Amino acid sequence: MHRECSLAVLLALQTGCVDPTDSSYDLDHDDVSAAASYDVCEGFAGGELTGDDLLVLVNKEPQRQLRSDDAPADLVALGPSYFMPGRDGMLRGPAADGLYELIDTAAAEIGVALRVRSAYRSFREQCATYRAKVDENGPEHAARYSALPGRSQHQLGTTVDLTSAGLDWALSPSMGSRAEGEWLSDNAHRFGFALSYPRGAEPITGYAYEPWHFRYVGLAAAAELRNSGLLLDEYLFACAEAEPLRCPREQPGDRPKNRAFIGGHCAGDEDCAGIGAGAFCLDAGTAAASCTLPCSRTCPDRPGLNAPTFCVAVGGSGGLCHSRCDQGLFGQAGCRPSHHCATASRPSPATIADVCLPAQLD
Ligand SMILES: [Zn+2]
Repeated sequence: MHRECSLAVLLALQTGCVDPTDSSYDLDHDDVSAAASYDVCEGFAGGELTGDDLLVLVNKEPQRQLRSDDAPADLVALGPSYFMPGRDGMLRGPAADGLYELIDTAAAEIGVALRVRSAYRSFREQCATYRAKVDENGPEHAARYSALPGRSQHQLGTTVDLTSAGLDWALSPSMGSRAEGEWLSDNAHRFGFALSYPRGAEPITGYAYEPWHFRYVGLAAAAELRNSGLLLDEYLFACAEAEPLRCPREQPGDRPKNRAFIGGHCAGDEDCAGIGAGAFCLDAGTAAASCTLPCSRTCPDRPGLNAPTFCVAVGGSGGLCHSRCDQGLFGQAGCRPSHHCATASRPSPATIADVCLPAQLD
């Protein structure tokens, strides 16, 4: 930022002093360790809100802050292959499922491998992130590109920053005019995500254009938001004020999971084609429909794409592949909605394991 423009930017936020396509900043400081010799959160109190509601409005208003101890209960570890090198992290379960579909579909439709740079950040991690940004770029820059603790959508566990190898893994405004940014802007709603800080919205949102920052609000809400033409903050404000919008709130299990992995939701056999020869959609047409594969003893594991698998004995000879129960991947229940964790055996010679099964196989 030009020094002589700092005050004007701080006051007016739309002076043109900063080229919105300027990619010379490294805008990302989320790899800063929250461990410090002093209390990084000193002076940051947090607010009154909790993030349980997918449509909660969190912004720069003091009354729209999250509690300092608020953390989602349904965080899951994201598949490692969806991250840029050297990163890992978590999202709430439904947001993770939407993100997998988004990234897989982007790869299929435009041939670009989008990757996550950062996902969930706790209040404490946001303290460190914000302080680092102030130290490096000054308070004006920090105010435009980084949220104060308690005001970050990343604390909701539904928000990601996306990048790609073509962007050198950076978070840059130039993404908006590249294939990645244009595709995301046009398609993120198909997967339940909204662009939080579009170009030109800074006078309302208080944040600069961030073509990489997407928040999951649910499939139906994302569609309504897009049709409304409102900014995300305007839409969420209207929902909080009970304006005449539907504001559909997605419940756990509402979201169909159409991903080609063993145990993933499917509408028909074609959704399972990516798994391998013979894969099919078990119980197609039901809420519990899931991709599986005939097996005699073992099943394919694809790290980062599916949970560890297990060949479950069905009838006399062969079996069917199912996901093993995994709380790290699926949350406390250990399985996706519509499946439950049960002990099952392999075809002979018998071995047993805890496996995610639809009800009728229990
Ligand atoms: Zn972000």
